[in-house]
Amino acid sequence: MSDVSFRLDGQVAVVTGGASGIGLASARLFASLGAAVCLMDRHADQAEVAAAELRASGADASASGMDISDEGQVADAFATALRRHGRIDALVCNAGAGSNAPAVEMGLEAWNAAIAVNLTGTFLCAREAARHMIAAERGGAIVCTASIMGLSGGGFGNNVNYQASKGGVVNLVRGLAVEWARHRIRVNAVAPGWVRTPFIGWDKDPARLARLADLVPLGRLAEAEEIAPAIVFLAGPGAAMITGHTLPVDGGFLAR
Ligand code: NAD
Repeated sequence: MSDVSFRLDGQVAVVTGGASGIGLASARLFASLGAAVCLMDRHADQAEVAAAELRASGADASASGMDISDEGQVADAFATALRRHGRIDALVCNAGAGSNAPAVEMGLEAWNAAIAVNLTGTFLCAREAARHMIAAERGGAIVCTASIMGLSGGGFGNNVNYQASKGGVVNLVRGLAVEWARHRIRVNAVAPGWVRTPFIGWDKDPARLARLADLVPLGRLAEAEEIAPAIVFLAGPGAAMITGHTLPVDGGFLAR
């Protein structure tokens, strides 16, 4: 295995939440390694801008507007991706949503919204990709974006809806990995710590971000470009014997 290549020429990667942050950084890295990329995002315009940027750099890239929590939209977006690119080798289930409220004040709507996007949406996209991968008999790789909050009890934000949904992703990955192993579909996750993306309002409250950085042994928040290599590694040939695993990319937060 000393000649293992990390190139992805001829491969097609679908990235949900691909218009921004971790998804966009992953899409750029996939493209730089030779993969064609389909960006799926509820912000169709932003996804198209990102796909155009990738095409301008010489990559094969497309965009689809969709909401991952809507079964029909997921099916349509994957059918469009398959018509456009012909195959799907890797799926990054990355789109996610969160909200904050103390548990005793959290309404059912906020609870259901986090579960619908982070857990059900992740399942719907993984299922859609796997249906194609199983029929194509080429195997494949699925990488989900979980969170340190799916692996710890929190204590740094009132968001049990988010914590529960991301904890669900960690165990969804284990279950799918075992069930689909016979089809040579690997299923893994990354669990980022705090990352400077619009998701955490990184540009809005510097004092809060400084407090979060103090919780991280490496002493700072991550950049999206520091999460993408873990995602692309787990999706690629270098991770051929890794499945059912969640890899924290957290500056040592969970090691404390
Ligand atoms: P981001 O806001 O930069 O990107 C998220 C993207 O997902 C956006 O483009 C958004 O339009 C899209 N999206 C949201 N809901 C969607 C839906 N229902 N259907 C389709 N697209 C949808 O944020 P990010 O930080 O890159 O977040 C990516 C993932 O990383 C999320 O799953 C998030 O929970 C996870 N995460 C983020 C952090 C962090 O600190 N930023 C930490 C741990 C985990």
